[in-house]
Amino acid sequence: MRRKLVVGNWKMHGNRAANAELLSAIRAARPFGLGVAVCVPFVFLGETAAALAGSDIHWGAQDVSAHEQGAYTGEISASMLAECGSRYVLVGHSERRACHAESDALVASKAQAALLRGITPIVCVGETLAEREAGQTEAVVKRQLSAVIHTLAHCAAEMVVAYEPVWAIGTGKTASAEQAQSVHAVLRAQLHAATGRGDAMTILYGGSVKPDNAAALFSQTDIDGGLIGGAALKASDFIAICRATA
Ligand code: PEP
Repeated sequence: MRRKLVVGNWKMHGNRAANAELLSAIRAARPFGLGVAVCVPFVFLGETAAALAGSDIHWGAQDVSAHEQGAYTGEISASMLAECGSRYVLVGHSERRACHAESDALVASKAQAALLRGITPIVCVGETLAEREAGQTEAVVKRQLSAVIHTLAHCAAEMVVAYEPVWAIGTGKTASAEQAQSVHAVLRAQLHAATGRGDAMTILYGGSVKPDNAAALFSQTDIDGGLIGGAALKASDFIAICRATA
């Protein structure tokens, strides 16, 4: 179902004391009048679940194995994430595509593994600066999304999509509201053509979102909220972004 959603991506940050403080500040600031979630490092899922239990704030992970179980040392399965109460999992974040050579096909398999266990995959797509400058933005994001649509088939409408231009992640350079909207419109049309339900799907923007640019980005027709990295680690910023989105 299409709805406003803000998701924090903590990346490889945090420790028990800082997490407890951050989660309790977010919890105290609710209700936000929109969906809010945090995607935390695997080892903090249990305590995040305990800190957010009974609230309307969801949690999830930043990656998942494409395999259900077996001899895959270091991997975490979707059923394990489900046991920790995860509602969401990020798949295909550009840092995983770049640092762990994740292919479009692997990202699609991870999205499928998540959905099979009732976890909503947040499928990240986005172009590099070189690709944008070469005029390939549309082709790149469509190729990345198409692999997932093909694999998920009739379940494709169950995913959340996040458009994250790689050149805007952690750089302080944000796509303008118009640049982001134009890519979101392309993605929504692609989703609609494939599922017939594109109008009902949630598409997030991510890339250096801050309290002062959130409202302009999230008021665009096809932008339903954000995937927030750096600003998700500071309670006052994350709360301000949630309020700007609502
Ligand atoms: C991200 O990691 O998904 C992200 C968008 O990071 P930042 O907000 O720091 O650019």
